Amino acid sequence: MSTATDQLDPHLDRSFFGHPRGLSTLFFTEMWERFSFYGMRAILFLYMTKAVADGGLGWTEEYAGPVYGLYAASVYFLPLIGGWLADRFIGAKRATFIGGVVIMLGHFALAVPKIQFFYLGLVLVAVGTGFLKSNISAMVGDLYGKADVRRDAGFSVFYMGINLGAFFSPLVCGYLAQSDSFSNFIVGLGFDPHNSWHFGFAAAGVGMFFGLLQYLIGRKNIATVGLPPSENPRLKNEPAGTNFSTAYLTQLGILVAAAVAIVILSAFYWDASTAITKVLTPVVVVSGLVAVILTGMQDKLSVSDWKRLGVIIVLFTFSTLFWMGFEQASTSLNAFADKLTITTLFGYEFPSSWLQSVNPIMIIVFAPIIGYLWLKLGERQPSDAIKFAIALIFGGLGYVVIAYASSRLGADPENVAGSKVTFWWLVLLYFCHTIGELCLSPVGLSSMTKLAPAKMVSLMLGVWFLSISLGNYIAGRIAGAFVADSAVLTSTFTKVALIMMGSGILLALVSPFVNRLYSKPQVMTPMEP
Ligand code: GLU
Ligand code: ASP
Repeated sequence: MSTATDQLDPHLDRSFFGHPRGLSTLFFTEMWERFSFYGMRAILFLYMTKAVADGGLGWTEEYAGPVYGLYAASVYFLPLIGGWLADRFIGAKRATFIGGVVIMLGHFALAVPKIQFFYLGLVLVAVGTGFLKSNISAMVGDLYGKADVRRDAGFSVFYMGINLGAFFSPLVCGYLAQSDSFSNFIVGLGFDPHNSWHFGFAAAGVGMFFGLLQYLIGRKNIATVGLPPSENPRLKNEPAGTNFSTAYLTQLGILVAAAVAIVILSAFYWDASTAITKVLTPVVVVSGLVAVILTGMQDKLSVSDWKRLGVIIVLFTFSTLFWMGFEQASTSLNAFADKLTITTLFGYEFPSSWLQSVNPIMIIVFAPIIGYLWLKLGERQPSDAIKFAIALIFGGLGYVVIAYASSRLGADPENVAGSKVTFWWLVLLYFCHTIGELCLSPVGLSSMTKLAPAKMVSLMLGVWFLSISLGNYIAGRIAGAFVADSAVLTSTFTKVALIMMGSGILLALVSPFVNRLYSKPQVMTPMEP
């Protein structure tokens, strides 16, 4: 067997924990990139909504939520375009470097306390992430031969890098932005204490700088991956793949048109609470789905392919609902932590944004355990659809916890902040969300690739990112309704819980149908048993 040969092959590079040396370069670059992303994200919503007197922008949640949602949706929407540019022209390696530079400039722009630089910074971080995110992961895949059994394990190691960065950065950026001790320190240096937020953003930029530095130092380790198509020897003998098909171009055209439409419309009606919120959701969803259907028509798919596409759209919907809940971590849940929880541990009052580190550290702890569980269960492990359902149910349980905590806040809306609850409620919520993430996130990408018709694999990966994008967007809208009021929060969080758990149960009920489409992808006969 070729896999066995690969495993025994003495020529394989195993110098980084049994993996190719190049993985270490990509691991640390992505660790620092995620450090910058999650560090900035931990304080972004708080900065937008803090009073001007406290150094923030003084926006209402109603305004900040949709702006944040638009930013976060773009971050997961643009990698589709960045991935295409790399496949078609510049190669993943160069795209990743360009992305890193643009991201770094973005964070440094945010470090300038001027509103124009704030918007510029958000745009740069989103565009830079578009260049970097999908391409750096593509290079991880590229490190392994087709039959190399280490590939999945390589991605797990890479995922650890992501979460290591995501764990450390809220601690650093949150401390700089929110702590009294650092504010006092910069006063001593002659700075305005209100600028502490901007030191937090600058720290994110410094993190990305380290990522770039180590990407350059380690570039010889990734000499053979991420090449542009013109220099890639592997493409010489292969027929044009999915990435170069007209189908992919059509999809891209529609997506670019949608992106341009969003930008133009937003520029015309710069009013976050109305126009953008109304425009973005339908444009992104409709363009994504139209692209899928058009591509399918062009590729003359078989009946069974169409059925499997149907399943992908079903999974897309459920995935969106999961991220809608999960991605409120940095907005509503962050605001909840800031305004309504007592963040004291062993007598030390820590910055509320430190709670953003709870999910990544739990991922690092629980990912190996869940991985081991699936391995142990082998054939008896639940199907992908059931794993999605479990993820949604755990996601919903997290909201049951926080709805209950909200109901314990004082009933007096004037003084709700005077009756805070303990931060442990949020830890419990993040525990539920982490288990959910581990049942859904690693499964999602692989089930998209398993279900996608051969010619449409790249497109389906894009669809996966679109579901995260849309989920982030809806999360931002829900955060727009955040008010520090016990009754309102209890009702909002209960609704989110019900939607997530209800859709999880629904998915579990229809899962036998979904599983049948999985196991017999080639069968063209009707689906009756
Ligand atoms: N939180 C992870 C990241 O930032 C995963 C998001 C995803 O599922 O792609 O890379
Ligand atoms: N767990 C997220 C990502 O994996 C990181 C985060 O949300 O902080 O990997």
